Formats: sequence, C-alpha cells, structure tokens
Amino acid sequence: MRMKNMAQNQTQSASTNKKISTYLTLIVLIVMALAITALLIAGETYLAGDQLAAGVLAGIGLIALTLSVFLLYQSKLQSAQVKIEVPKVMTTIECTNKACTTKTVREFQRGDYVYKELDIPCQKCPTTKQMITGIYKEIKEKEKTYNV
Ligand SMILES: [Zn+2]
Repeated sequence: MRMKNMAQNQTQSASTNKKISTYLTLIVLIVMALAITALLIAGETYLAGDQLAAGVLAGIGLIALTLSVFLLYQSKLQSAQVKIEVPKVMTTIECTNKACTTKTVREFQRGDYVYKELDIPCQKCPTTKQMITGIYKEIKEKEKTYNV
C-alpha cells in the first residue's frame, strides 16, 4: 500500500513541476516584454535629450532581458532533466517454496505490495504459489532493493 501511494505522489509531483515551469515561462515572457518596453522608452528618452534617464532605463532593460533569457534557459534544462530521471518501479516475485529459487522481476503494477500472494503458480513447481518479495525503484547506476 505504501508503494502505491509513492507511485501516486510521483505522478503528482511531475505534474506540479510542469505547472511551475509553465508559470515560470509566463513570468519570464512578461519580464522580457517589460525589458523590451524599457529599452524602447530608453530610446525615446535618449532622443528627447535626457541621456541619464535613457541610460538607467537601458540598463534596467538589458539586465531584465538577460535575466529572463537565463531563467528560460535554466527552466528548459530542468524540465529535460526531469524527463530523464523518472525511475521505473520494479516488483520482485519469488516462489514460496524455500527449496525453489525461481525469481522473476516485472514492472510494478497497481495493487502490488510486499508479501502479497499471487495466483500465478511457479513455473518449476506448479502447486506452489508465488509471493512478492520486493518492490524497488530502478536506478541506472546502482540498484537499491528494499527486500524484507
Ligand atoms: Zn518454485
């Protein structure tokens, strides 16, 4: 049951990340628009003869523009990383016969929990039932098992 909740949290946090990045993109676009406006006003102020105000506005505009481009780049990098780092949840199934060593690993399915008896009999000893002995996240470099 705990693993089931974990899986749900995973999908929830993934969609929250997506929402945040959408908001971030929106904010960045607004900042970018303001920066361009500031630069345009700076141009007009410069033409009007107020060079100090034009310089300040141009500075603000450039800083805001750089910042928004940087943020946009950063958020794109992050969303790319999130896509790669979604780990698979695997379920280990073992035969309940102690003398038998049959062990199978398949992808986690809804309703899986450790010590759950399965209706699918063992391939070697068809009279014995199989049991879930472990549920773990598959990580590429090192496999962390939570066998009990
Ligand atoms: Zn067996």
